[in-house]
Formats: sequence, structure tokens, C-alpha cells
Amino acid sequence: MTMKSIADVQKYVMKISERNGWNLNSDEETLNDLIEGLMENFNRLGYYNCPCRDSQEDRQLDRDIICPCRYAEPDLAEFGYCYCTLYSKADYDQTQPMKMIPERRPPVL
Ligand code: SF4
Repeated sequence: MTMKSIADVQKYVMKISERNGWNLNSDEETLNDLIEGLMENFNRLGYYNCPCRDSQEDRQLDRDIICPCRYAEPDLAEFGYCYCTLYSKADYDQTQPMKMIPERRPPVL
């Protein structure tokens, strides 16, 4: 497995945000933490497990939370940003505080 660097993950999240017309979190520290989390997850698991959710260490079981997760679109539509606050809608005003939004993922048994 090829290890990812911070630069690789930066490119990846920029590509995802551009492709979807989303913005990245404009707070540099938060953005860097999330990118670092994604990099660590990739290098440990081999896929971009969501940086703010626990992995079950199985790609199949985690498939709904591989970034960008299945819940990103409905969360952006409803709240303006995703659960981790990595991505936000183009028209979301990031000067507003990004409060924790409810977890849309069904509980893992
Ligand atoms: S909540 Fe955001 S950062 Fe986490 S997987 Fe979904 S899109 Fe990626």
C-alpha cells in the first residue's frame, strides 16, 4: 500500500471539494487536524475513514464513512456542512460557528 503524505491528502480533499462545488473548512488549524486524521486513517487502514468517526477496521463495514461519506450530501443540504466540518456548502457562511451536528449514521451494532 502506498503511504499518503499531508500533501497527497490536501490534494485529495481539494479535488473532492472542487468536484462537488463545496468549500473546505476555512479554519486552518481545524482543516490541518482533519487532513492529518485522514492521512493517519489511510496509512493505517488503506482507505480514508472519516477522521471524526471510529473505524471498524474493515472496508466493507466502514464503507459508508469513507470520506466523503454517504452522509455528507444530506448534512450539507440540511446543516450546511458535514459531520466533521471538513466540507461545507458553497454558500455557507463560515463566519458562523460550526456547531456539532447530529450523527446521521445509524448506530453500529
Ligand atoms: S463527515 Fe466529512 S470528513 Fe467525515 S467522512 Fe463525511 S465528508 Fe468526510
